[in-house]
Amino acid sequence: MKAAVLYKPNTPLEIVDLQQQGPQAGEARVKVMAAGVCHSDWHIMNGDWTLPLPMVLGHEAAGIVDEVGAGVTHVKPGDHVIFSFRAHCGRCFYCSIGRSILCEGHKSVRWAMLDGSTRLKRDGQDVFQMARIGTFSERVVCPSEMLVPIRKDMPWPQAALVGCCVPTGVGAATRAAKVESGSSVLVIGCGGVGLNVVQGARLAGAARIIACDLVDRKLEFATEFGATHTVNAKRENVVDRARELTGGRGVDYAFDAIGGEATTLQIVDAIRNGGTAVIVGMAAMAVRAPITPYTMALQEKTLKGTLYGTVQPNVDFPWLVDLYMDGRLKLDQLVSRTYELEEINDGFARMLSGEVARGVVVFS
Ligand SMILES: [Zn+2]
Ligand SMILES: [Zn+2]
Repeated sequence: MKAAVLYKPNTPLEIVDLQQQGPQAGEARVKVMAAGVCHSDWHIMNGDWTLPLPMVLGHEAAGIVDEVGAGVTHVKPGDHVIFSFRAHCGRCFYCSIGRSILCEGHKSVRWAMLDGSTRLKRDGQDVFQMARIGTFSERVVCPSEMLVPIRKDMPWPQAALVGCCVPTGVGAATRAAKVESGSSVLVIGCGGVGLNVVQGARLAGAARIIACDLVDRKLEFATEFGATHTVNAKRENVVDRARELTGGRGVDYAFDAIGGEATTLQIVDAIRNGGTAVIVGMAAMAVRAPITPYTMALQEKTLKGTLYGTVQPNVDFPWLVDLYMDGRLKLDQLVSRTYELEEINDGFARMLSGEVARGVVVFS
């Protein structure tokens, strides 16, 4: 079984043959059909996030269930599923209050099965799975609770994106910030996640959507996804532009889809008094940003974070799929390029160059 494995930070992924154990109780095996190339994988590849290796990367994917272990009832062989990259036990405090992304019901590490054991080996060595799934792989064995069944007429590359960048972005606007109709929104960073914040704001009825990036091609994508104004931060000051476009007041909501010191400070500066700034993009672990508590209080600003768009995968993935099938969610335009598994390192190079909205590995 072929998979793309990271052995050492700052080295290319290796396409290798792995031995895979079948699903045990509560687990399922999925034939992966498509898997998106995401910045979160890159954070592990470049050492921003230090995780145990070797590990199969990939966490944004869809496929077909081909075998289930004992006791699995909510999916069956033949079901089309999207992977959720967060397990949810369904019983803990957070699952009970509808915040399953924060599930605290599993104590085991997030790169193995729920009991802490692994299903992949190469030459006798354990191989971990990113986010317990590791989807740059022909087949994935994972906890079945991480699989969300979807309708069978949904195309694969588009379905894969509903596993990470689409809910993360659309959810940030609609679920985490609850953007209101008629409001003004700034989105910094127009990659796969940022473009989905833009379209989430459009779906929520935002009147003014200002998109900011350093790459003009990405700003063109943003306009296609619903941005009313664009700012190239190489040429213009994004905070000044956001103020200018809102009568000097600042935007109601600002989103950082990148995750970094400068952009965190920019979203806080760009919102009006009483406004909400949301950290969406995942920064490197070591990044710090100096917030001024005095002005946060004085100006009644809110700074919040969101993981996975604060969605509930079992509810929101089918919702996003329906929105796409109804023609209201743009996903075709996100799939700029598809790759074979063997081309995956090229996929990361193209992601970093900013030439693609999203690249997707497709499996035959
Ligand atoms: Zn991702
Ligand atoms: Zn839970």
